[in-house]
Amino acid sequence: MSLTVNLRHLENRNLVLRGELSLAELDLDVRDELIRVAQPVEYDLEIEKLDDSVLVQGEIRVTLECECVRCLKKFAQEIELNPWTLHLPLEGEEKVFVDNDCVDLTPFVREDILLEFPQHPLCQKDCAGLNKKSSGKAQKTGGKTETKPSAWAKLDKLKL
Ligand SMILES: [Zn+2]
Repeated sequence: MSLTVNLRHLENRNLVLRGELSLAELDLDVRDELIRVAQPVEYDLEIEKLDDSVLVQGEIRVTLECECVRCLKKFAQEIELNPWTLHLPLEGEEKVFVDNDCVDLTPFVREDILLEFPQHPLCQKDCAGLNKKSSGKAQKTGGKTETKPSAWAKLDKLKL
C-alpha cells in the first residue's frame, strides 16, 4: 500500500493514517554501501484539509542498518522525524499533484528520510576505529630493564 490521501475523505473531518510503508513502495535509492534500509517505514499521521491546502502532521520512523566508517562494525540507527509536518498547497504554482482526488505522500516521505541519512555512519561518536588498539599502547613498555648484567657480574665476583 502506498501512502495516499483521498481528498474527498478529508472534507468533513481529519484523517488519521497509521501503518507501514514497505521498502518496495518507498523505493529508496540508497547509493551508500554503508547504509541499508532493512525494515519498513512506520508512519503515524494526522491529515487536515485547510482552505486551499492539506496539512500533514505526525511522525515517521525507520531503522537503518549501518556500517561504521571507522571500525566497520554493523549497528542499527533509528531515524525519527517527529514532529513531521508537510504543507501541500492545492492551488497555485506549487500545487501538489492530485490523481483521482488522491495525493501520494510517499515521495515526500522518501525525500525527508534521505535527508536524515548519516553522511559518515559511526557506531559511536568517538569510535576509535580499527588501528588504535594494536599500535597505541605497545610503545610504553620496553625501555630501561637492561640493568641485570651488572648484578650477575657481582655474583661472578663473589664466586671467585
Ligand atoms: Zn565504530
